[in-house]
Amino acid sequence: MTNRVHNFSAGPGALPLPVLEQAQQDLVDFKGSGLSLMESSHRWPMYDEVHNQCISDISNLLGLSDDYQVVFMGGGARAQFALVPMNLLGDGTAAYVTTGRWAEGGYSEACKIGKAVEIYNSGESGHNHVPQAGELNVPRDSAYLHYTSNNTIYGTQFRHIPETGDTPLICDMSSDILSRPIDASRFALIYAGAQKNMGPSGVTCVIIRKDMLERCPAGIPETFSYKNMAGKNSLLNTPPVFPIYMVGLVARHLLGLGGLEAVAAINDRKADLLYSTIDNSSGFFRGHARRDSRSCMNVTFTLPTNELEAAFVAESEEAGMRGLKGHRSVGGLRASIYNGVPLAAVEALVALMKDFQDRRA
Ligand code: PMP
Repeated sequence: MTNRVHNFSAGPGALPLPVLEQAQQDLVDFKGSGLSLMESSHRWPMYDEVHNQCISDISNLLGLSDDYQVVFMGGGARAQFALVPMNLLGDGTAAYVTTGRWAEGGYSEACKIGKAVEIYNSGESGHNHVPQAGELNVPRDSAYLHYTSNNTIYGTQFRHIPETGDTPLICDMSSDILSRPIDASRFALIYAGAQKNMGPSGVTCVIIRKDMLERCPAGIPETFSYKNMAGKNSLLNTPPVFPIYMVGLVARHLLGLGGLEAVAAINDRKADLLYSTIDNSSGFFRGHARRDSRSCMNVTFTLPTNELEAAFVAESEEAGMRGLKGHRSVGGLRASIYNGVPLAAVEALVALMKDFQDRRA
């Protein structure tokens, strides 16, 4: 495997090489079955085992108690922006924390379904920060509080879990799930599109506290209902068989590394390396995120001019790196350093940054 590039794509993002290699091995003849998993019925025992092992490995990684159920759904994380209020809002008012483009998306979908209020918006500062512990005022009797733990576009991340008292807490963890240990017992519902830290695109993982299922109205379409999907163990209709298999391989791989503590230690090293390079560059590289809100998954930064940024991106591509151009709404550069990005890729990037500064500052 000498021709693999250093992939800093924001999503779909880099997958661990051993996972890709295992999938390659299984692709045509899945474990001696004589067929590919993509060609097998989702009702066969062969798939059943993959499905349930994946659920059990995710539960183990996140330390989920029996109070929680892992559900697989389609439609991307974006479908969850609507499904959360369709299932859980009822006649109440939901509180939303708007810390970026995706958080805004969740709020605007909720407003189409029912009543929602924005209790925090970091837009005036270009979404360069997230609220710190104790900063949110959650209105009493909110149907739930929704927030985005990692803002993929802006490169900001919550370092704490917001305190909501009895108000159910709901989180879009699309871009940092499985990157660090979390106290899952604090959440009523977590959702994540798989395509950053969990696997390929095509499946969304929903982790729901079982008591929340009682809130799901009977009248909503069955494939949109958490209650129906959970009741059928995500096998109400044909699930995305291959993406779920891949998520299972990723979960196995992370367990093999020692679980999320070990994964977080590697991720912290990668992020520290990048942020210290930015901080020690005498202002040549400037981080977008406020220091207290820096993301360990998406590192956003600028160079002194657009020309230098374009030149840096061009050089990075020549040096075998991909995906460093920032999102159009923020500009600059963004290095997405998900679980699947090895330390060596970050070391290569940091070496290029230092060399580029020496030549071009
Ligand atoms: N939430 C977050 C935090 C994201 O980063 C993204 C995608 N980049 C989405 C939601 C939307 O995900 P999807 O494309 O799976 O609908």
